[in-house]
Amino acid sequence: MDLKDLYKKALDLVPLTAEEGTTLYHESPLEELMFIGDRLRQIHVPGNLVGWMIDRNVNITNICFSQCKFCNFCRRKDSPDAYVTSIDDYIKKTDELIALGGDQLLLQGGMNPDLGLEFYTDLFRKLKELYPFVKLHALGPPEVVYLAKKEKLPYAELLRILADAGLDSFPGAGAEILADRVRQIVSPAKATAGEWLDVMREAHRLNLPTSATMMYGHLETVAERIDHMIRIREVQDEKPEGSYGFITFVPWPFQDEGTLLSKKHGIKSSYNGPDYIRLVAISRIMLNNITNLQASLLTVGKEVAMLSLHAGANDLGSIMIEENVVSSAGSNFRFNANEIQEIIREAGFDPVRRNQKYESFYSQEIKAKKLGFARNKKE
Ligand code: SF4
Repeated sequence: MDLKDLYKKALDLVPLTAEEGTTLYHESPLEELMFIGDRLRQIHVPGNLVGWMIDRNVNITNICFSQCKFCNFCRRKDSPDAYVTSIDDYIKKTDELIALGGDQLLLQGGMNPDLGLEFYTDLFRKLKELYPFVKLHALGPPEVVYLAKKEKLPYAELLRILADAGLDSFPGAGAEILADRVRQIVSPAKATAGEWLDVMREAHRLNLPTSATMMYGHLETVAERIDHMIRIREVQDEKPEGSYGFITFVPWPFQDEGTLLSKKHGIKSSYNGPDYIRLVAISRIMLNNITNLQASLLTVGKEVAMLSLHAGANDLGSIMIEENVVSSAGSNFRFNANEIQEIIREAGFDPVRRNQKYESFYSQEIKAKKLGFARNKKE
């Protein structure tokens, strides 16, 4: 396979096959991949703006039956530090969020067998009653699969009930690697790859804005990373015309510190900076139908994130006022609003604060007042 032919195909936005993607991953020089990734970024999101946002992760509960082997956050019900967040805590944390200029709560946590659909709808309604302008970016496909089984409801109905209660957008959490061989080892109690994708199909039919993620660098192969992207691309292709679909793709590396995968199975994170940048460029190439690509500043740090912006990424995500799942496995990068904007400028771009739909708050430069989403939506 001639690499130049693959680059041309990528730049023509033709979907690459699994074999072609794997060939690029293994054989392309990093600088060539970065060049193609950057050109594609300019096709999808022209200009010099790089997005960032302010939101706060509040964990609903740390009790989780799933016990994924990469997770240090989850607790059993009888654990002395098990909790379900109280409404007083939400109020305190949301007030702090608003004081810092944020307007979105990322609500995630464990799959707690004591919490059913009504708990979540009551919570969303209460938060919307208290803070009508605060957006709720909450749960993820594994929780929906779990709740659907528990409540004996189809995914579509369950998502509709959650949206009616105040869910504004739906994170692509719990994707890890969408290959059941891998999931059977790292998170056997969680949604299968097919279930994860089916929930997202329903979310797209309901026109919930969603994201797609990938946690890589544990025991997956490069072919499985590429297949993960292709499966996401196929679901994006199926979304109804005009639906938000996957607004962004966010890859981040497995953090191994203290995890069962590391302690019991001897699996260390294979993360290194050049491989992350390679992955960002390959993601931009393989995901020819997703407009935005976010580099995970929180997990890869300043230098690698800055280089990722020259390899196809157009966003550095949130300053994430509170985050417990990734940070409990060894990620220590923290940035405030000034720092994240400085990092973007240092990389040669102009920071633009955006919301979950990638709509820009402050941009004078983009006529549509949007960072890239305009390309996904029939205006
Ligand atoms: S990653 Fe999520 S689903 Fe898995 S054990 Fe941790 S809290 Fe539970």
